[in-house]
Amino acid sequence: MGLNIQEIRSDFPVLAEKVYGKPLVYFDNAATTQKPVSVIQAEADVYNHYNSNVHRGVHHLSNVCTQAFEDVRKKVASFIHAASSDEIIFTKGTTDSVNLLAGSLGDTLFSVGDEVILSEMEHHSNIVPWQLLQKRKGIEIKVIPVTDEGELDLDAFEKLFSAKTKLVSVTHISNVLGTINPIEKIIETAHKHGVPVVIDGAQAVHHLPIDVQKLDCDFYVFSGHKMYGPTGVGVLYGKRKWLEIMEPYQGGGEMIDKVSFSGTTFNDIPYKFEAGTPNFAGVIALGAAIDYLQEKGLSKLWEYEHSLFEYAVEKLKTVPNIHFIGKAKARTSVISFLIGTAHPFDVGTLLDKLGFALRTGHHCAQPLMDRFGIPGTVRASFAFYNTKEEIDRLVQALGQIEGMLG
Ligand SMILES: *Cc1c(COP(=O)(O)O)cnc(C)c1O
Repeated sequence: MGLNIQEIRSDFPVLAEKVYGKPLVYFDNAATTQKPVSVIQAEADVYNHYNSNVHRGVHHLSNVCTQAFEDVRKKVASFIHAASSDEIIFTKGTTDSVNLLAGSLGDTLFSVGDEVILSEMEHHSNIVPWQLLQKRKGIEIKVIPVTDEGELDLDAFEKLFSAKTKLVSVTHISNVLGTINPIEKIIETAHKHGVPVVIDGAQAVHHLPIDVQKLDCDFYVFSGHKMYGPTGVGVLYGKRKWLEIMEPYQGGGEMIDKVSFSGTTFNDIPYKFEAGTPNFAGVIALGAAIDYLQEKGLSKLWEYEHSLFEYAVEKLKTVPNIHFIGKAKARTSVISFLIGTAHPFDVGTLLDKLGFALRTGHHCAQPLMDRFGIPGTVRASFAFYNTKEEIDRLVQALGQIEGMLG
């Protein structure tokens, strides 16, 4: 398939680390991904060569930095096929993007008693901002239930709409179950009711090719650090027609047109939503992450990664007493499981001692844990720098651990 995985691995310095003297096996990619040298270098280059505040100066460095920063806005727009780079707002991450939306749409769109529809498989970052809005404004939250297989119940979804429904906000891919939600259908249904849709793409944008225009979603949000970019930078895509009528989320420098004590007018989009000095070094490094994905070929990377996932599903079935959470027909990248009655934390601790980095716990999705009546899961999540040999080692280690705990 034309991918040289050993060569790819050598692009990610951290993968060569040892943990307790054992080679690191990094299966916690749904929490954050590792960074290739090119991303680390891009951020260092800013500080080594052209660090200067953006959009501020007439001087050379500021212009170079501003150009590099704005080039990434164009790069992100083309990466997700936005109609215009004006529709790309840089944030701190997915959480920040959803808070921006809850804050701004809360003012623009919602009145007392209006409703937002979320799902039972949302990450806390797509629940709590809406609960804060609920407290502030007296809105209602409706929830799409999850089936035993770990899929959204679309019949129940249809029935949640009322004359008061103002917004639907759902995840593209579940960070716990790996379920790929049928967002095309969800968006179509919501639009039939005249309701805009937010998609949480934190687990999707680095796996699937995203075309926000084809999807026709109103908003799409994601984090840099989950797509091999740096921490502290994320994206909010919004359709121009929404961004233009939305109130600013925070006030400060850069987001204004003219400030006086008798009143302030705001800058155009996207700057209206970017108060203060942005994380320009992080944004520029995010651009390097997109370059990396495009150079290797996003679909080729995902094809390989999905084949790892399928291999892992088959191999893990051979572990005695393993029990999977989430069996959706369409899923990828993430496998959640439990071993017998062992607490996930105990399994994770034993795996850690063997050099494995897996996540255990509720994965910021406590309502979903409640849905399945479990305290948490052990989660293996894959990236294109993982290998079948690493999965074989995990299966062997889990067999050993099952024997110890059983
Ligand atoms: C990680 C994650 C988030 C939150 O992203 P942050 O980078 O922590 O802001 C939201 N939704 C999903 C599905 C995630 O996996």
